[in-house]
Amino acid sequence: MGEPGRPLAEGEVVLLVDRKDRRYLVTLHGDGEFHTHAGVLPHAEIIGAPEGGTVKSSGGARFVVWRPSLADYVLKMKRGAQIVYPKDLGPILVLGDIGPGVRVLESGVGSGALSLAMLRAGARVIGYEVREDFATRALRNVAGFLGDVGEHYRVEIRDVYQGIDEVDLDRVVLDLPEPWLAVEHATSALRPGGILVGYTPSIVQAVKLREALADCGFARAETLEVLNRTWHIDGESVRPDHRMVAHTGFLTHARRSPD
Ligand code: SAH
Repeated sequence: MGEPGRPLAEGEVVLLVDRKDRRYLVTLHGDGEFHTHAGVLPHAEIIGAPEGGTVKSSGGARFVVWRPSLADYVLKMKRGAQIVYPKDLGPILVLGDIGPGVRVLESGVGSGALSLAMLRAGARVIGYEVREDFATRALRNVAGFLGDVGEHYRVEIRDVYQGIDEVDLDRVVLDLPEPWLAVEHATSALRPGGILVGYTPSIVQAVKLREALADCGFARAETLEVLNRTWHIDGESVRPDHRMVAHTGFLTHARRSPD
């Protein structure tokens, strides 16, 4: 975050938006080039430009250039696994009460979208991820947006179903196929009052997670989905958009009771 009006500089990630609203993420290098269907756009043309300014490729295509928001970035960053979408990232932060200094165990880490949102909110995140290539991708994605986060983010290559070594955690956040297999481990890893959040594409998964939470004495469990309907607003034509992302996943959250 910077002072207002700071020109775009070498090393920064920028979002280029073309006239058809197609979006591209580019990391600026002095001698870099962005190749488009309409010729070449040297990074040198972007470096020094104001945010929100327009730049033009050699073939005449125009792009408006912005610093990406976290939502812009996660939608365009390289993916290993499917990400948690921005519409769910915000609610997960609130339901999980993720804030500065909060210690979170996250599993799996996937592409790092949820890690980024939690780190951005000030949490300290330990990730358990079974796939080394995904862990590497997540670390790169996080660094690409937040720079060096140091000890705030650590990813271990391991299976969360086999156990959690950390104790006295504030939060456990699960986005993997069988979260119920991690609930008993989460019980011993969380401090009393700690929060578990699970993200599951299918309601059958949510039900199994709820059963495990009940069996392990979690309290105040709730499952919900977030519907995000955008509106078309253009003069007299004001109505919901015809298309929406109707389903991503269910969010389940609960609190660890004292023993
Ligand atoms: N929340 C992530 C996406 C996670 S995708 C994001 O926003 O980018 C689910 C991830 O869980 C995958 O990377 C998968 O490799 C990992 N995974 C599946 N089973 C696991 C297990 N038992 N332990 C740890 N990670 C696991």
